[in-house]
Amino acid sequence: EEIALRVEDLHVYYETEAGDVKAVNGVSFDLRAGERLALVGESGSGKSTMATALMRMTRPPGKIVSGSITLSGRDILQLSESEIRRARLAEIALVPQGAMNSLNPVIRIEKQIIDGILDHIVEESVGNSSGSRRSEVMEANAEGALLRKPTRRELRDKVADLLTNVGLSPSVASMYPHELSGGMKQRAVLAIATCLSPKVILADEPTSALDVVVQRQIMQTLGKLQSGIDAAVILVGHDMGLVAQFADTIGVMYAGRLVELGPVEQIFEDPQHPYTRLLIESLPSFSEKKDFVGIPGMPPRLLNLATGCAFYPRCPSAMDICQDTDPLDIAIRPNWRTACHLHNETGSDG
Ligand code: SF4
Ligand code: MG
Repeated sequence: EEIALRVEDLHVYYETEAGDVKAVNGVSFDLRAGERLALVGESGSGKSTMATALMRMTRPPGKIVSGSITLSGRDILQLSESEIRRARLAEIALVPQGAMNSLNPVIRIEKQIIDGILDHIVEESVGNSSGSRRSEVMEANAEGALLRKPTRRELRDKVADLLTNVGLSPSVASMYPHELSGGMKQRAVLAIATCLSPKVILADEPTSALDVVVQRQIMQTLGKLQSGIDAAVILVGHDMGLVAQFADTIGVMYAGRLVELGPVEQIFEDPQHPYTRLLIESLPSFSEKKDFVGIPGMPPRLLNLATGCAFYPRCPSAMDICQDTDPLDIAIRPNWRTACHLHNETGSDG
């Protein structure tokens, strides 16, 4: 199976006067081509910090301390500034948190899309197109640079296609963001994110500001776009209902660690980590119309985190060993793992 993205032992800390806050504390996972992975967890679990790191957009006081992020065979943490600039959008694209507000209010939609594309033209790669073989419009080389400079006409056509693909009229091209509804703005952001057919689309709580019906439509659009270009998606969110509908794999984060990772349906049926179980049990049930219950206790402070399981103070299944020994990843099935002492090599559960 083709791996679109491989994250190995990633550590992202925030440096504070009181010490390092370990927001992402040793996360590893593989993302297969075309896979839909949802990263869930309470706020402060490290999911947004991780999304930012995957784009290599971590800014001080945040710092990627160690680990690797391999995309198309290259560790993006080792790329030069110009290389990573090209990889963004062309290979990995971000639909940011509060995406609707990421549009520039004084620039027409068309120009915002075109600017993203033109950003990927580098001098060396342009100018050879008069030869016998005309390259595809917007075809990028392995480093994410466009093979030739598209014509004005080609760009216009491309923008119209992109808008149509996200369910917008091509006439939206000439509009300003304030002329669009929240849902339309969100679609315009999706058009920008997919303009260079990235291998990975990272969507950080892409719909949280929208009403439920619009949310569902946007997720459907994202799913359609994704399968159209065979991109993998990482959906960062806290809405477990949305996740259950959209994703095929779920990664549960707690205190900067991926505590459970596996197939979404099976995990919803039979969660292996106590935190995952509580997250699922706290979901409002549609049939019972019961209120959101929440999980008792507070997320841990990530400063000077003690050894042992970070969930220990809140865990209903805690044992003595959990207090001072870090739980390691244990495979439940080939594509399913959890880090919890309830599961160990000799455990009878497997
Ligand atoms: Fe609970 Fe122990 Fe598992 Fe942590 S390792 S989740 S404290 S049972
Ligand atoms: Mg967040």
